[in-house]
Amino acid sequence: MTNTPPFHLAIDGPVAAGKGTVSRLAADRLGFLYVDTGAMYRVAAFLAVEAGVDLTDEAAVTELVSHATIEMHNPLEAEKDGRLTTVIVNGVDVSWKIRTEAISAGSSKVAAYPKVREILVKKQQAIAAGQDVVMEGRDITYRVLPEAQLKIFLTGSDVIRASRRHLQLQTRGEDISYEEVLAGIKQRDEQDIHRTTDPLKRIPEAWEIDTSELSIDQVVDMIVSRANVMRSM
Ligand code: C5P
Repeated sequence: MTNTPPFHLAIDGPVAAGKGTVSRLAADRLGFLYVDTGAMYRVAAFLAVEAGVDLTDEAAVTELVSHATIEMHNPLEAEKDGRLTTVIVNGVDVSWKIRTEAISAGSSKVAAYPKVREILVKKQQAIAAGQDVVMEGRDITYRVLPEAQLKIFLTGSDVIRASRRHLQLQTRGEDISYEEVLAGIKQRDEQDIHRTTDPLKRIPEAWEIDTSELSIDQVVDMIVSRANVMRSM
């Protein structure tokens, strides 16, 4: 037994900057748990849609989230179908159901509700307590894990992010144009940047990585190398 505190690697950034893929690969190489916090806000929107609750009804959405059981784990052998994480809500696997464009748009709306954030931030902090994690989202570097040893702001040009997301959605069979994807990304970023509670922002001490001209492997190598240097200090 050692008393070494857990290593927390926090990654924030706008929509489709590559946070999910990069975090999953970095976590695997470091032997850390990968935590996708966006999935939890997606679950909040999904629960509302499933229950026929209007997304503008803050009290009703909060009520649904406060009673939901959300479990997340690395995909098991039988679940390895391209997903980065498995999300179980009230006992049901919703890993893919929360990835549609409709749920993406809804997640950004419900993520503006302070009480929803309070509940989910507590869950995220409980997961990170006592273990090494790579956690990604919008407020991880300054709200969820302000003590994280390594803080990163992952970004990229609008056009590159939209092309990547468009390709991803097409691969999954979603019928949507590039222009619609670009508009959706811009709208979600606007909402995330301008909300009152814990908006998306880059804090000065976060290491900014622009992924526009870099491959996924290059970004992962940069992050893993820096994390390893810091762990050895
Ligand atoms: O990262 P992802 O695109 O899956 O996140 C979905 C939505 O959840 C974002 O658009 C954002 O509004 C919200 N979110 C957040 N805080 C986080 C993670 C995600 O507000 N830590």
